[in-house]
Amino acid sequence: MKFVCYKEFDDPLEPTFPGLIYKGKTLPLARVVAVAEAFHPRGVQVPDDLNALIALLPTFSATLKDLEKNKVLDLIWQEVGVTIVAPLPRPNRILAIGRNYADHAKELGNDVPDSPIVFMKPSTAVIASGENIVLPTGVGKVEHEGELAVVIGKAGKHVSEEEAMSLVAGYTLCNDVTARDRQTRDFAKGLPWFLSKGYDTFAPLGPCLVTVDEIKNPADLTITVTVNGEVRQQANTSLMIFSIPKLISYLSDQFALEPGDVIITGSPSGIGPLVAGDVVEVTIPEIGTLSNPVVNEED
Ligand code: MG
Repeated sequence: MKFVCYKEFDDPLEPTFPGLIYKGKTLPLARVVAVAEAFHPRGVQVPDDLNALIALLPTFSATLKDLEKNKVLDLIWQEVGVTIVAPLPRPNRILAIGRNYADHAKELGNDVPDSPIVFMKPSTAVIASGENIVLPTGVGKVEHEGELAVVIGKAGKHVSEEEAMSLVAGYTLCNDVTARDRQTRDFAKGLPWFLSKGYDTFAPLGPCLVTVDEIKNPADLTITVTVNGEVRQQANTSLMIFSIPKLISYLSDQFALEPGDVIITGSPSGIGPLVAGDVVEVTIPEIGTLSNPVVNEED
């Protein structure tokens, strides 16, 4: 199933609500849960955002499937005129993996790593599909990095590779926007990746959260990045150096993973610059398209 977060009014001060995408409609999850409880009481509380929802998914998805099968979802009226925001507007953490495709490591003149390179992007950098990526004044070259994002739904520490996928609630897309000149300067001084990856609007996320049952094999997805319709990056997720189970197991050996954590799994080769006026799109057909216009800060 596909979930989104939405606002009823396009106002930054308005609260966000979780919704279920069903036959192209956005169904408010509060109504879906109310109907589900009427048919089959399980004591499910209406989650107030997708962070809360994903912890419920293991028990709740069976109820949703029942409602879909029995055509009950057809009876729920849709929300109209909503503004879709990022599926996790403020994720618990964004755990990012660097150089996880050999071709991308090589295009930046780096060796292929022998263990995962982990950094973080601030949750405040998240924007939704359709929102502007803002190029900070004087920052130099900024580049796109289209990535598959794994959303954690269950807590775990010291998780084996065999158990790792049981922690996954679903998938979405991320553009790991990077201030490349700043990153290169910081590398030369031995400084971390955080600032070059952490500017406001540098973590487009979305357009929706697709639950694990809809993705047969996350290690066989075609990811494509276009800029103004021209293909810049295209690869299969089978080319990752460290697989999703390996990444989850490795990260959970360092610290406990929590529901709402998002792991962005690295970018294939073909990164390139973004300038004001561009529209950059990250697509995995099974998930959707994350589309963002690019503007200058001073505009
Ligand atoms: Mg990246």
